[in-house]
Amino acid sequence: MHATAAIAPAAAMESLVRPALAGRTAVVTGSTSGIGLGIARALAGQGARVVINGFGVASEIEKLRDEMTRRYAVPVLYSPADMSRADAIGMMIDETVRSLGPVDILVNNAGIQHVAPIEDFAPAKWDQIIAINLTAAFHTTRAVIAGMKARKWGRIVNIASAHGLVASPFKSAYVAAKHGIIGLTKVTAMEGAECGVTANAICPGYVWTPLVERQIDDQAKSHGVTRDAVIRDVLLAQQPNKRFATVEEIGALTAFLCGPGGASITGTALPVDGGWTAH
Ligand code: NAD
Repeated sequence: MHATAAIAPAAAMESLVRPALAGRTAVVTGSTSGIGLGIARALAGQGARVVINGFGVASEIEKLRDEMTRRYAVPVLYSPADMSRADAIGMMIDETVRSLGPVDILVNNAGIQHVAPIEDFAPAKWDQIIAINLTAAFHTTRAVIAGMKARKWGRIVNIASAHGLVASPFKSAYVAAKHGIIGLTKVTAMEGAECGVTANAICPGYVWTPLVERQIDDQAKSHGVTRDAVIRDVLLAQQPNKRFATVEEIGALTAFLCGPGGASITGTALPVDGGWTAH
């Protein structure tokens, strides 16, 4: 025991006390609530400087930013950039670099949902979902990947969905966007592989967040059943473990992929779905 302690390298000892992501700068899109907020908390908890992004009441977001800054003892900034606008995305990345330094970790999480049969699916809704759930990840990745490659380190985590792997009716735009972001993830992984840049997609099944809560009423209308029936027979019907995942679970996996244990994991689409896509 004594001998082992005596020869422990200094770097290994330091890693016991230094949070895994200390000194890294992370941008998490769509992180004023739900999964994105869980991820932003997990990254800040590992010492990363974090930019949170998304919509909400300005005073509540400021309270959240202040609480996170104090709790995790790292700088936390807020960007109101609208992920459906390429110019706003560019400004968010520029401001991050100016305020916190180059982006080391990018989490593309912002996403919206709309449920309707294809024949009733409003084209404007289709465009909006593709823009926020897919095209935004292209713009953010395009803005940061050259720097990551030059610095020989980068982590890109795209929050896809079980719906990136399988389909459900009435979710044409969402399923198309989520399948698309898994394709983008694979290409990003290929392009970053020799330069220390990893890219992975996380594919959650149902996670208890405001987005799911809102779907319950939409689905109840589409299927003509009660909220309880939607939860039991529609949402969790496909999820064999019969429980919603938590935002903390998705946050922990993201932090793992961004930390030293994730260095060789790239180009994957990791289901976190209680067995749904094992069917
Ligand atoms: P949520 O509605 O709780 O949060 C979405 C976040 O995105 C919010 O911060 C919102 O302000 C932000 N946002 C929405 N439109 C935006 C825009 N145009 N620009 C910038 N920010 C915008 O949703 P959630 O459930 O936490 O979902 C987060 C991600 O996880 C989405 O990509 C979603 O598709 C995916 N996902 C969720 C579940 C689930 O069960 N909740 C399952 C699989 C995948």
